[in-house]
Amino acid sequence: VSEPVAIGVDVGGTKLVAATVTRDGRVLERRRKRTPAGRADLLVDTVDRLVADLGGTLPVGVGIAGLVDAGGVVRYGPNIGVRDLPLADELSQRLGREVTVGNDATTAAWGEYLVGAATAARDAVMLTLGTGVGGGVIVGGRLLEGAHGFGGELGHVIVQEAGRPCPCGNLGCLEAYASGTAIGLTARERLVNRDITSSLRDVDELDGKAVTSAALAGDDFAAEVLRDAGTWLGVGLASLVNVLDPELIVVGGGAAIQAGPFVIPAAVAAMRERVLGHDVRGLPDVVPATLSDDAGMIGAALRAVEAAA
Ligand SMILES: [Zn+2]
Repeated sequence: VSEPVAIGVDVGGTKLVAATVTRDGRVLERRRKRTPAGRADLLVDTVDRLVADLGGTLPVGVGIAGLVDAGGVVRYGPNIGVRDLPLADELSQRLGREVTVGNDATTAAWGEYLVGAATAARDAVMLTLGTGVGGGVIVGGRLLEGAHGFGGELGHVIVQEAGRPCPCGNLGCLEAYASGTAIGLTARERLVNRDITSSLRDVDELDGKAVTSAALAGDDFAAEVLRDAGTWLGVGLASLVNVLDPELIVVGGGAAIQAGPFVIPAAVAAMRERVLGHDVRGLPDVVPATLSDDAGMIGAALRAVEAAA
């Protein structure tokens, strides 16, 4: 159990992490570098070097922020700045072994299902709140991939027609209201009103992390901003529950883990009001992720093991 079975790689908008992972999801050795954004050649080089540095010939699984097709081509990764990059093929050529590539939130959902918060549920939904909002769906114990590999983009469920602009180019996506980025924006927008008293007025970089820290330190305005993000999340969750009827909803990602005590109860309340037949049916539990920021990397590693079997 303590032997590594694969190498997991998480390529995010700012950092790139590679690690050896055991079958039960423990991370043994890890390497980390800044993501070379907008440079596909450097990105491939960097992953190649980190994996080679970990040694051995273990299978490699990559989770990357973006749309990844079934052949491991990153079709569109706006946060990384790549388009139509055949990442799986290029890496397996260089490393001389099988490399699987998937969307980071989808692999995170798989990680939480196999060895994290969702091990007891055969039907589960995971949302990751970070720079954006990612998602993954488990249906009957299988990962939902969709016809092209693009399934589970839960952050782009539209919760407000003609609403806030989303980085994807649409208006009113859940991501535009519930991501860490959106939480910072909401706080900045509201503080234009000089009547509001908040410690956030003295913060230089007012982002989602700053809002969460202030809320945890007792700032009422910051807590309200987080609860409102939670309400939007709940509006999105109600539609997901109507479509998928999951047993469990897992909320993870950098922005959510600390903000959970504010975001999750508000999300549950908003979801409860809106789900069809909410007073006659059981509603899913909404719980925090347990694999922290490593979920995508662990899930990617475990998918690589399955692909190699
Ligand atoms: Zn969007």
